[in-house]
Amino acid sequence: MDSGRRRTIISVTTPDFSALGVAEPLLRALVAENYHTPTPIQAQAIPPLLAGRDVVGIAQTGTGKTAAFALPILQRLSEVRVQTPPGTARALILAPTRELAIQIADAIATYGRNLSLRHAVIFGGVGQDPQVKAMARGVDILVATPGRLLDLINQRHIRLERTGILVLDEADRMLDMGFIRDVRRIIATLPKQRQSLLFSATMPPDITRLAEDMLTEPVRVEVTPAVVTVEAIDQRVFFVETASKRALLNALLDDRDLARVIVFTRTKHGANRVVEQLDKAGVVAEALHGNKSQSARQRALARFRSGDARVLVATDIAARGIDVDDVTHVINYELPNIPESYVHRVGRTARAGARGIALSFCDPSERPYLRDIEKLTRRPLSVVAGHPAAVAVSSPASAPADRRSPGGAPERRGFSAGRPATAAARPRPKSRYAG
Ligand code: AMP
Repeated sequence: MDSGRRRTIISVTTPDFSALGVAEPLLRALVAENYHTPTPIQAQAIPPLLAGRDVVGIAQTGTGKTAAFALPILQRLSEVRVQTPPGTARALILAPTRELAIQIADAIATYGRNLSLRHAVIFGGVGQDPQVKAMARGVDILVATPGRLLDLINQRHIRLERTGILVLDEADRMLDMGFIRDVRRIIATLPKQRQSLLFSATMPPDITRLAEDMLTEPVRVEVTPAVVTVEAIDQRVFFVETASKRALLNALLDDRDLARVIVFTRTKHGANRVVEQLDKAGVVAEALHGNKSQSARQRALARFRSGDARVLVATDIAARGIDVDDVTHVINYELPNIPESYVHRVGRTARAGARGIALSFCDPSERPYLRDIEKLTRRPLSVVAGHPAAVAVSSPASAPADRRSPGGAPERRGFSAGRPATAAARPRPKSRYAG
């Protein structure tokens, strides 16, 4: 029964990539990457960018902003075949660090794998000869850090007078790192007639000014960082093999303090599987995902809210817009590959000042996701060691030293707020969890 708490399902119709206008060769690359649904920044930015508009994007890393600009750029460049004269680039993407530049270039290679566009990446701290060589025939897309690029422009190895698309990524970091003057000098060598994009997590006055100078009637797209909410949440991670996740979940749910739990999976199929598993273990659970009708979703939610179902198993998309109070625990059965989704997921607990707990299961293939999440939240999750199901694959001794709790000792606490240890945390014979 629905009591006085807020119950809203905002039915969000999420367009897919083809509805945004993304062309077939790119769609194939996205399917290969398992991208099915655009992130909010992609949904907002791709259509105006494909239409040739300037865009100012307020978004941080982890929101999917790289694909938001890379896909339209690849598409627009592939629509017109041109010869690139030596030392020139048709599009320029400026990034503050070598790491980010490489990451962007990798994304370009991935999304553009079915197109025959050429790209190069340029950064300081290494010899310039290979970079000069890479530019010798000209490229479609050049990804660069400002210092080295300016160097190569001054040495006349690179000319940007034909560069019709410019992206400034992480503009606020460029400012912090003292690159803005270099950036302005580089921009001065580009044609005035061009498409320009600026992405920044924040908009300090210097960046607002730069945006005004470099953009023409830009479309503003913004995704508000959800990061603020995570501070109040106790966040922990279990390093666990995929095959042991099921036993770990069942063992955790032996603890009745996990009273109202949302379990997240990456896929609809995964959500159904977890519900079946829980059913076998005698735990009442409901699935919430996009394959269910609106009325089935409403029903699942109502049963979860009333407490008839102790567990709701949801995918990220389905969970958008749900508002349920008193969620005691969020369990990430599978880590999201979009770090921003992690923040949205864990934000489902700890509402209205309550202390929330978020437990993440991380198998070896998910370690890169965990790294991205910690980069976004700027906060390492505490590692839970000592749990039998997790211990089976990741004993305290095998946890990297920097993943331990302060003082060097691995975390060994329960998962109920305010209680030092619970049944779920007590070591039990391994055999109980076998299979
Ligand atoms: P970014 O904010 O561009 O650094 O992207 C963050 C992560 O999200 C990257 O690992 C991307 O591969 C991933 N990603 C971006 N867009 C999508 C999408 N639509 N679906 C799934 N993963 C995505």
